[in-house]
Formats: sequence, structure tokens, C-alpha cells
Amino acid sequence: MKRNLERLANHKFDILVIGGGIHGAITAWDAALRGVSVGLIERGDFGSGTSQNSLKIIHGGLRYLQDGNLSRIRMMVRERTTWMKIAPHLIHPLTCLIPTTQKISGSRLAMGVALKANDILSFDRNQLADPQKELPDGMIVSRQELARILPGYDVYTSTGAAVWYDAQIYNSERLLLEFILSAVDAGAEVANYVEAISFLQQDNRIIGVRAKDFQTGQIFDIQSKLVINCAGAWMDCLLEKAALHSEYATSVAMNVIVNQVWSEVAVGLTSQPVNGKPPQVLFIVPWQNMSMIGTCHIPWHDGPNAFMLNKVMVQEFLDQINSAHPPLKLSLEDVRHVTWGFLPVNKADVNRQHVNLTRDGVVIDHQKKNGISGLISVLGVKYTTARVVAEQAMDLAVNQLGMKTKKCQTHMTQVRGGKIDDFRAFLRKALLKVPRVVNERSTEHWVYTYGSEYEKLVECVLRQPDLARRIDPPLPVTVAEVEHAVHHEMALTLADVIGRRTELGSTGLPSMATLQKCASLISPEFRWSSEHQQQEINSLIQTYPFKQTETIVA
Ligand SMILES: Cc1cc2nc3c(=O)[nH]c(=O)nc-3n(C[C@H](O)[C@H](O)[C@H](O)COP(=O)(O)OP(=O)(O)OC[C@H]3O[C@@H](n4cnc5c(N)ncnc54)[C@H](O)[C@@H]3O)c2cc1C
Repeated sequence: MKRNLERLANHKFDILVIGGGIHGAITAWDAALRGVSVGLIERGDFGSGTSQNSLKIIHGGLRYLQDGNLSRIRMMVRERTTWMKIAPHLIHPLTCLIPTTQKISGSRLAMGVALKANDILSFDRNQLADPQKELPDGMIVSRQELARILPGYDVYTSTGAAVWYDAQIYNSERLLLEFILSAVDAGAEVANYVEAISFLQQDNRIIGVRAKDFQTGQIFDIQSKLVINCAGAWMDCLLEKAALHSEYATSVAMNVIVNQVWSEVAVGLTSQPVNGKPPQVLFIVPWQNMSMIGTCHIPWHDGPNAFMLNKVMVQEFLDQINSAHPPLKLSLEDVRHVTWGFLPVNKADVNRQHVNLTRDGVVIDHQKKNGISGLISVLGVKYTTARVVAEQAMDLAVNQLGMKTKKCQTHMTQVRGGKIDDFRAFLRKALLKVPRVVNERSTEHWVYTYGSEYEKLVECVLRQPDLARRIDPPLPVTVAEVEHAVHHEMALTLADVIGRRTELGSTGLPSMATLQKCASLISPEFRWSSEHQQQEINSLIQTYPFKQTETIVA
């Protein structure tokens, strides 16, 4: 996959997607699979906005039982199954647990009823042929069992626990990239580091965008019959360029990554009221031998560009976590990484103290709403529902273009690395097949990350066995992956390689030695000078917000 700005500038597309987050990536894939000519531009790297910061849970919608919104739950159950079908290497079952209490709403009886309702509503969840994807029925477990599952947890505050099953993304940055790669396979033209700086407009019709390439500074026009605005929290910044605006504002959400608290189960614990925040269920999720804890919601009303995370915000979140499970005693020193991004709120619901999140994704038809044709905006609220929102956007798009195309294919098409019928059997075979020069843990990691495409890395290693070396043991990431990222996956910076193409930086800032090693591996491809390598390292460090806070806040 290579950038081809000439083609972007010289071809008239049916559809141009702005934004390479999860919504933009799937929209472009959907368009390409329907046979529509499509381009996508992303002003940073693919996934570098909110999408790379999620808690990586593909929700089946259990929490929405409280709202009684059964159609939303059914949609989420269907989507969870779809994700496991189209990306079986990246989406896996996750055991979840919430301790039950003496309070009626959190009692064994109430939770038991909720789990039963959840099982009934997800009656068709196990229709996949792959036995690894099976999600058993929920159950209530005893206090003794809870003590066994959660060592160190004060079980006397609970009466047992409710256990159910959801799904987790092994690597959400890779998943997003798989959609980009699959879109390209289906004919899409994509480029990172290209920003839409204004719209091309003819009377009341949008006919493309003026774009800026951050690699060269070049400004050029991209023509398309229709533009789909998937700019996430920056949706309104883009709409302003056509003198439009939406009903949505942004709030900030954050997770922290700390050393592993509990392995195997994602645990929901309720915080106490602290720092003016009401009690909230926080999830401690096992991930990459660490724990990811989320999600903290911060009211924010000044637009996405002005927000800066600081230590006070992180400390307040740690206070909240510690109130939910006091033995943790988390302090700032325990935090390995902070991931944060934006979530939409309705402008009408903006509240200085609390965040009232928008619950459902929205596709905005600007022809109907503002009399401006050739423009659709997509407001996404969850990774989980991104595919279905993209489908709705594309249905509207082909309808507006009056095109006769294939129907949506994304619910039944496996992504590039997803050609796997039985994940466990596939992994077993790979472990036998991969040359011994590759560490077993690296083979496993290749299969979980690249799925059926792991053989591309095997080919690299067969050509050059040296590429099987691990970069930062015990992490399983190999030199082959770095090479693959710069040659075949449009990685243009050190941050792209460390933060999104490989898992070298997923759980925290790697050591200086690792950064230097990677920078020198990449530099021949881009002919970086030693000064440029250092600049790359410095700007990568800036992408780790918690490290930034150390310099920003005295
Ligand atoms: C802390 C946190 C935890 C979360 N946890 C979960 C979870 O567990 N499960 C779940 O389902 N969801 C979760 N979510 C929600 C989910 O991550 C988001 O809904 C989703 O990633 C938003 O995707 P997006 O494509 O709309 O936005 P983004 O990922 O922000 O993509 C928009 C892109 O547009 C680009 N862009 C903006 N302006 C321009 C322009 N002018 N030209 C070109 N490009 C432009 C940006 O650079 C950006 O990359 C979480 C969110 C957060 C913040």
C-alpha cells in the first residue's frame, strides 16, 4: 500500500471520505466493496485520532438493558457476532464480571434476571462455526468463587458476582488498518498525512476538497461527486468550512494502563463519589499482560483542538479507581500509559459537571438538513457500532448519487487477514509451520495480529532469517514487522511504526534503546539523517500524553 497523490488529484471519485478513524476506514471499505470509486484522506496517521484510544471492548449491549432499548441491544449483539466473523484473528471472547451487592439493583436476583434477559436477547450469538468464538450463558457465582477469581478483592463487600461474556479487540490499531488495507485491495485510493483544508463548492453542491499534503506541503484539489465527513470530534471544524455546524459537541474520555491487576476477567467495580464525581462503574480489563482501566469522562466544551491532558486529571481518575478498589493504591508512578480521546455529546445536553454521552451513531444528510448537496457527515459513538453506521452512510450516499450498486458486503466479507475458519486450529498449524528461527511467542503474536496474512512475515524471514529477531524482548514484536510496516503499510514516521503498526508502544513509551533501534531500522527507507532520527524520537515522545504531562504541568 503506497500513497499515490497524483491519482488522488487527477481522478474524479464517486465518494471521498475525510478521516481515517474507524468510521472512515469502514466507510471506504464498504464503498469499495460496492464497486463505488472511493478515496480516503487522513490528516495524521490512520487511527491516530480517537480510534487508537478505545478500551477495546466490542460490547454486546448488556448495559443498555437499563434503558430498555431492546433494538439497540439486538443491533450490538449482531455486530459483535459480525466482528468475530469478519476479523476472527483480532476479536476474541472476553469474560466479564461484576460483584453483586446487598442493594436490590445490584443483587444476585436482579443481576440474575439481567443475565437471563441478556442470554435471551442474544439467542443467536453462537451461530458462528468457529468453536473459539462461543460465548456461554451468563451466570451468578458464589462469594467463594469470587474470592478465587479476584485474589485481593474484599469479597465481604459483595454477595457473589454476575459473570457474562463479551468480546475484546486484540489490537484495535491493527483492526482499523485491516479495513484500510482491505479497502485498498477492493480498489480504494487512500493517503495518510493529507488534510482536507476546505471544500470545493459549486453553488449549493460540494464537489470535492482542497487538500494539503503534510509530507511535502503541497496543496491540491480532490474532486468527488460526494464527500463523507468522518472527521470524528473534528466534524464541526470541517463543517465550518462550508458555513455549517452540527448539534454535537465533544467530551473527553480516558483510560489508564497499569501493571496487571487480575488476569483473564474484565471486572466492573463501582467507584465512590470523589472529587465531585458521582459513583460510576469502572472496568479493569486484562490486556497485553497489563490492565487497562476505564473509562473516565471529562466534561470539555472548548473543542477538540484546545484540550490538553494534565496530571491533575489523571490523578483525579486514579482517586476514582482507588475508591472502587482501595487495595490498588494507584499513584501516578504506577501509570504506564494514558490513552484518551473524544466522545460526542448533544450540544443541548452540555453540562459543566457531568457528561451525557450521545448514545447512537448518526448519519447527517446535509442536503435534507441544510440544502447543501454532495455532503454527508457521520457521527460515531462506538467502535462496536462503526460498521453499521458506515453501512447507513453508504446506503444514503449511493441513494443520493442515484447509483445502482451491490448491496453492503461488509457484514459478510472477511478483512484481509481474516481468512480463518477455526482460530485455535489455525494457530496450532501456524506454530508447527513457522520456521524455528521465529520465537514461539512471536509466531503466536503474528497470528493474533496479522491473521491469515502472517505468512507474509514468514516469507520475509525465509528470505532474511535475521528479521526474526525480537526488537524489545520479552515483547514478541520482530524486526520483520517494522520492515513490513514501512514497505507495505504506509508507515511514514517512527510514531506510526511504534504506536500503530506494531505493538512496541501500545502499553507505554518504549525505552530509548528501542526507539533508537527502530529509528535506525526505518531510516534507510526514508534516508533520515541522524538529526532527523532524533526529531522522530522527540515527536514520538510527545504522542505519549502522560509523558507530555510531566513537562506541561509543574
Ligand atoms: C477512552 C475511550 C474508550 C473507548 N472505549 C470504547 C470501547 O471499549 N468500545 C467501543 O466500542 N468504543 C469505545 N470508544 C469509542 C470509540 O473509540 C470511538 O467511537 C471511535 O473510535 C470514533 O471513531 P471515529 O472514526 O469517529 O473518530 P476518530 O478516530 O477520531 O477519526 C477521525 C479522524 O479524522 C481525522 N480528521 C479530522 N479532520 C480532518 C481533516 N480536515 N482532514 C483529514 N482528516 C481529518 C482525524 O485526524 C481522525 O483520525 C472509546 C472512546 C474513548 C475515547
